[in-house]
Amino acid sequence: MSLTRYNKKRNFEETEEPEGETKKSAKGALKFVVQKHAASSLHYDFRLEMNGVLKSWAVPKGPSMNPKDKRLAVMVEDHPYSYRNFEGTIAEGNYGGGTVMVWDEGTYHHPEVKTRKKNEEILLKELEEGSLKFILEGKKLKGEFALFRFKKGGENAWLLVKKDDEFATGNDILKKDKSAKTNRKMEEIE
Ligand code: MN
Repeated sequence: MSLTRYNKKRNFEETEEPEGETKKSAKGALKFVVQKHAASSLHYDFRLEMNGVLKSWAVPKGPSMNPKDKRLAVMVEDHPYSYRNFEGTIAEGNYGGGTVMVWDEGTYHHPEVKTRKKNEEILLKELEEGSLKFILEGKKLKGEFALFRFKKGGENAWLLVKKDDEFATGNDILKKDKSAKTNRKMEEIE
């Protein structure tokens, strides 16, 4: 996995975002983060730790806890692991200029395996095959989700869908709009 694309898009003298480095070693459960990003158009960046980087998708309508919703998720470049802590404003004129909130964070795992090693093995295989399933243990997002390639939508199109389980609900989770990290609203982060 490479962060070349990530680094090329950014000027680190002008943005406060972290410079891309692949994480060397890690322990414990895999991490995920969802960042609300008020760029030229508002979206939610959905990121899953795999192999020392964050595999990333931009979700224009944001995640949903309703199994009936299929949310378009456009795969974007890998982000560095440390990006999961980034909350702040990317200066105007830079790539992705706008405010970023850590909307949700937590750990995740494949429904059928427990250890970190086995999780990475199976998740990387499923990513390759274009169909991932995983359980999120976040502050807002909980329970099982699926993320699969949506060929009709184009090369980088995937769909993010909630599985029907005890956490599924028709209530709009996006109404919870404070940072999972600092409890701030977008305008307070700006
Ligand atoms: Mn973004």
